[in-house]
Amino acid sequence: MPSLADASLGFRHAYLDHDRLTAQLHAWTERFPDFCRLGSIARTPEGRDVWLLTIGPDPDRIRPAVWVDGNLHAGELAGSSVALAIAEDAIRAHVEPESLELPPAILDRLRGVLFYVVPRISPDGAECVLRTARSLRSVPRDPRVERGQPRWAIGDIDGDGLALAMRVQDPGGELVEAPELPGLLVERTLEDEGPFYKLYPEGMIENFDGKRVPSPFFLSDNPIDLNRNFPWSWAPGHEQIGAGAFATSEPESRGVVEFTTAHPEIFAWLNLHTFGGVLIRPLGHAPDSKMEPEDLAIFRQLEAWTLEHAGYPTVSGYEEFLYEPDKPLRGDITDYAYNQRGALAYVVELWDLFKRLGMARPPKFAQYYERVSRADLVKLAWWDRDENGGRSFPPWRPFDHPQLGRVEIGGIDPRVGMWNPPLHELPAVCSAQAAVLLRVAALAPRLRIDRIERRPLPGGITRVEVRVHNDGYLGSYGLPSAKKLEFNEPVYAAARADGCELVDPGAAHQILGHLEGWGHGLHTGANLPAYPGTRGTTNAAWATYLVRGAGALELRIGSCRAGFVSSRVEI
Ligand SMILES: [Zn+2]
Repeated sequence: MPSLADASLGFRHAYLDHDRLTAQLHAWTERFPDFCRLGSIARTPEGRDVWLLTIGPDPDRIRPAVWVDGNLHAGELAGSSVALAIAEDAIRAHVEPESLELPPAILDRLRGVLFYVVPRISPDGAECVLRTARSLRSVPRDPRVERGQPRWAIGDIDGDGLALAMRVQDPGGELVEAPELPGLLVERTLEDEGPFYKLYPEGMIENFDGKRVPSPFFLSDNPIDLNRNFPWSWAPGHEQIGAGAFATSEPESRGVVEFTTAHPEIFAWLNLHTFGGVLIRPLGHAPDSKMEPEDLAIFRQLEAWTLEHAGYPTVSGYEEFLYEPDKPLRGDITDYAYNQRGALAYVVELWDLFKRLGMARPPKFAQYYERVSRADLVKLAWWDRDENGGRSFPPWRPFDHPQLGRVEIGGIDPRVGMWNPPLHELPAVCSAQAAVLLRVAALAPRLRIDRIERRPLPGGITRVEVRVHNDGYLGSYGLPSAKKLEFNEPVYAAARADGCELVDPGAAHQILGHLEGWGHGLHTGANLPAYPGTRGTTNAAWATYLVRGAGALELRIGSCRAGFVSSRVEI
């Protein structure tokens, strides 16, 4: 069999463009056709496919599945690399299992799980950022019809192909050059003597009156944030910036929702972002006291793995990651994944830049982003020069702007070093998240038919009793809170008599109910020997048949989420 190393196009050491990412996916499907299948869940307005790689033998056989996506935000390229690394390790579990540093029990379980990997939800956005370095939230398009206001339209002005930053000297400027590091713009203080600067994106002003410069706004010419465009708790633009015209108005988010709605077997969901170095878990809209305690206990297991392998802390979206207090984000993908699809859903903000700068953890994690001080910024610039090849702070060059006159262009290129880890850090970022996700996959419910008993009765009748049990960590429903979702049907047994016949034809379809798993998360008190911490046989169910004559019963037992097991019982 060909080796995975030969098939790698270097995503653990580089940020791939769409062509190379596509070539990587084809390299796997061509070399490992028994374990990889490539599909497209959407086509973008610029004509790129949103690729979905399915990993696992016999991909149409329904069984528990995990979903991994990245690069929904255009500049967050490391998400694609990490998603590809997870895909590579999932393939490795089948083709080179000995090279994975995993206990055999975990390996055995995750090999029974299907992986759906979408390495780049926004290929148009990523391509635009890779080519131009421009600031772009999700997609490089603006479908708005209201065009009367002045606004910044970002783009290359000086002809170097890049859209970086522009600074303009202004006595009322909010920024000043750091004395320690000329060129680096920092917050102005009362002691500073100038010159002072205003900072704009490289670009032109639409509807410019020749005098008033509009304030830069990160969604000025790209109003859609795909991570506000998902259906659960979606709200329109006046309530949620970036929402889009309606939930799933964009082909990328619609493709995700259509596929995942058709695949209730997805029980876990990793949504990759940058940056921060943190795992963000549900709830996103309410405090932990409103969360199902059994869910919370299982998320504590995830928290422990993420701390162990990546060194990242875990926070709740609501408790520590609201940008405005008491104003939950609306329409984001993990809220959809957790609340609407019942998945063990989590966000990882890759790349712990704040920790690298030695910043103390603030009371709420999201405050890191607002607390970067002047001294931190100088530290960042030193670090960039010493460890990142000076990529983040290119020099300023004078330029005569057609609207603003004399400006300077350059200054800031956040692609590698701020938005994403430097390339030499990327391999470790990839392997840490793969180690965690493979363990999450091993939590899957797993149905087994473990006992079949036949007992002859008078009159040529045989009593057949079949025991099915779940030997997985999670119940047949996945997360406990997912039990309430209408698609999350109980386990059922379907029988077809071949040659013989069922005494009661109605017994051909029997509802067996959900089967619990053995796992219950961490810190639930079940470990205390003073009180019994185990349950009865809530993990097993029995289907009973009365069969007349000789022949066989074809059994298929399972559910749309837990998958199906089958058996032929000769009578
Ligand atoms: Zn993001």
